[in-house]
Amino acid sequence: MDTNTSLQALMKGPLPPLYFCIGNPVVGNPTQHMMEKAFEQLGYPGRYLTIEVDPDELEPSIWGLLAMHFQGGNVTAPFKQDVLSYLDELTESASLCDAVNCITRKDDGTYIGDNTDGKGFLQSLVEIAPDLERRKVVVFGSGGAASAIVTELALHGVREVVVVNRTLTRAKTLVDNLAGISRTTLSWEPWEGIYQIKEHDLVVVQATSVGLFQPDDCIKVAFTPDLHNVIACDVVFNPVETTFLKKAKLAGCQTLDGLGMLVNQGAIAVKQWTGKEPDRALMRLSLEEAFAVC
Ligand code: NDP
Repeated sequence: MDTNTSLQALMKGPLPPLYFCIGNPVVGNPTQHMMEKAFEQLGYPGRYLTIEVDPDELEPSIWGLLAMHFQGGNVTAPFKQDVLSYLDELTESASLCDAVNCITRKDDGTYIGDNTDGKGFLQSLVEIAPDLERRKVVVFGSGGAASAIVTELALHGVREVVVVNRTLTRAKTLVDNLAGISRTTLSWEPWEGIYQIKEHDLVVVQATSVGLFQPDDCIKVAFTPDLHNVIACDVVFNPVETTFLKKAKLAGCQTLDGLGMLVNQGAIAVKQWTGKEPDRALMRLSLEEAFAVC
């Protein structure tokens, strides 16, 4: 938004719509930069603030944001589940995976919570796997990101999803919670030693936190050489090319990095808030710009 538009809004109203990102810690979270670039390109007068909330003060913080008519915002760790109880409504995705990362104020003044992590991931994947419905997908992890992804894969109706997690009970709970929501066959497998990725036509998703800010770290997997038609995805976005993706590439897999998911979940939020489709390439560039500062 140019200075004149901003000044007009300040002096003549309506005041700029406000958005938030709450979490703890939030230093190092690049969402504000990405959102501001998207708003600016759309000529939308929204303002976006990153706010570190003390876990003991979540309740008054949320009531404050809602009372001040913030138009929406993003929620990051560790509050994605805690915010549920303050919202008037949940989308199907948020309700199924029991976590909210995106809040929108509706025209009637009520607040709806959505989970756009899985949707953002799915958008990235469908672009390179138009035949996703007939595929088997193996997801490593059972935390917030994995749960959002498995939920969206099931809602999309992929043929089969297998959840593999270090703590088996979490994988079982994730699968049990989604049982019967679609025709997708859901199951879990224990993760004992090195998990060998050896099937052709698979989609494998690294949805654990391993590798985040640790370029040399990788989950305990091995790829059989010369895999045919396998897509390997990582939710970790920094570094963009993780060791997991490097290993997958060496085995002949097509790869999908976590930055696309981050951009897409942000773009879905902007569309919900403004009604307009933001420039995703610009949003990706803004993230790369932010990470270059680290
Ligand atoms: P959670 O803390 O909810 O879950 C972490 C998961 O990682 C658990 O399944 C945990 O297993 C597993 N894990 C942790 N350490 C290990 C290890 N050494 N070996 C095997 N498994 C391990 O985190 P989130 O799900 O919220 O986040 C996961 C990642 O996803 C983060 O890097 C986050 O930044 C990223 N993310 C990316 C997004 C994007 O848009 N690209 C959006 C959201 C998240 P266990 O259950 O056994 O503890």
